Amino acid sequence: MQVFDAPDFDQHELVLHCQDRASGLRALIALHDTTLGPALGGCRMWPYGSEDDALRDVLRLSRGMTYKAALAGLPFGGGKAVIIGDCRRDKTPALMAAFGRKVEALGGRYVTAEDVGTTVADMDVLRKVTRHVLGISGSFGDPSPATARGVLAGIRAALAHRLGNPDPKGRRIALQGLGNVGFALARLLREQGARLVVADIHADACARAAAELGAEVTTPDKIAATEADVFSPCALGGVLNDDTIPRLNAPIIAGSANNQLADARHGAMLAEKTILYAPDYAINAGGLIYVGGERLGWNKPQALARVDSIGDTLAEIFRRAEAEGRPTAALADELAEERLRQAREKKAAEAA
Ligand code: NAD
Repeated sequence: MQVFDAPDFDQHELVLHCQDRASGLRALIALHDTTLGPALGGCRMWPYGSEDDALRDVLRLSRGMTYKAALAGLPFGGGKAVIIGDCRRDKTPALMAAFGRKVEALGGRYVTAEDVGTTVADMDVLRKVTRHVLGISGSFGDPSPATARGVLAGIRAALAHRLGNPDPKGRRIALQGLGNVGFALARLLREQGARLVVADIHADACARAAAELGAEVTTPDKIAATEADVFSPCALGGVLNDDTIPRLNAPIIAGSANNQLADARHGAMLAEKTILYAPDYAINAGGLIYVGGERLGWNKPQALARVDSIGDTLAEIFRRAEAEGRPTAALADELAEERLRQAREKKAAEAA
C-alpha cells in the first residue's frame, strides 16, 4: 500500500519506516499533527499479518492521539509507533534500544510511552538511549491504571445520562479484554458494586477475574451481544461494526479500546439504535493525561484530578449530542477539530 493513497492517510506530517538489521527491528512511526505541541503517543508491539496492517494501525492510532490530546485540552500533538513482531517471542533489549535510537533521532518531535505489547521495563530500556520517553519506572510509571480510572469516570457519566444514576452498584457490565486496563477497570467497578461479565482470549485472565472479582465468564464471540447495562470494549479496535452493532444488547458502550468504530458511519448506526456511545478517544484519555502531566511537571494528584474530569467532558458531549440530535462521535470530533482550528489560526496570526 502506498502511504499517500492509504484510506487512513489524513495529511499526516510524517510517516517513518524504521529498520535495524542487527536487532531485527521493523517499526513505523507516524506523526499526525503537531499543531498543539510535540506528538505524544505510545509504542505498540503486535504481530501484524502484513506491513499494510501495521501502516493502517499507525495511521489511525496517531490521528486518534491528535484528537485525544485536543479534546483533553493538552499541549500535545498526535503520534504513535508500531513495532512489527510478537512481544512474547521477538522482543529483546537490543530491539527496544534500536527503536529508542529512532525516537531520539526525531529530536523530541515524537515522545513515546508504553502501549499494547510494551511495558514499563521496555520504557526503561528506551530511556537509556532517548530522553523522549514517558512512563519509566520511578516516575509516574504504568499509565494503564489512570486510563482505567478515566474509563470509570466516563462510565459513571454515561450511566447518569442514560439511566439516571451514575452509581455502578448493581449494574451489569460486560467487559471485553482483561489486560492492563481491562483488569484494573474490572477491579474498580467491582469495588463500586457492579456485577461483571468478562471475556478474554486468554483463559487464565478470565479465571483470575472469576476468582478475585466474582466475575461471570463468557466467550470472546459472545461478549458483545451479552445483555448488560454497559458493554465495555477494552481489547482491540474495530469492535463496533456491521456484524456486532445489530447484536448489541446494552444501552451504553463505554470502554478503553482505541478505534472502536470500524468506520465513522458506525457512530451514526449506534445513535439510530439509541445506544449511548462514549467516544473512545474521549473516555480513554486518562493514560495520556497522566503521562502528559508528567511531561508538564504536574504532581500525581493534579494529574489524577484531570483524569477524573473526563466524566465532565463526556457529560457535556452526551448533553450536546442529545440536544442537537447528533451522534456523540461526530460531536467529539467537532470539538477536537475546533480546538485544532483555533490553535492553527493563532499560530498563523503569530507568524504573520
Ligand atoms: P493489553 O494488551 O494489556 O490488554 C488487551 C487484552 O485484550 C488482553 O488481555 C488480550 O488477551 C485481550 N483480547 C485481545 N483480543 C480479544 C478478543 N477478541 N476478545 C477478548 N479479549 C481480547 O492492552 P491494554 O493496555 O489493556 O489496552 C487495551 C485497549 O485500550 C487497547 O485498545 C489500547 O490501545 C487501549 N488503550 C490503552 C491505554 C493504556 O493506558 N494502556 C490507554 C488508552 C487506550
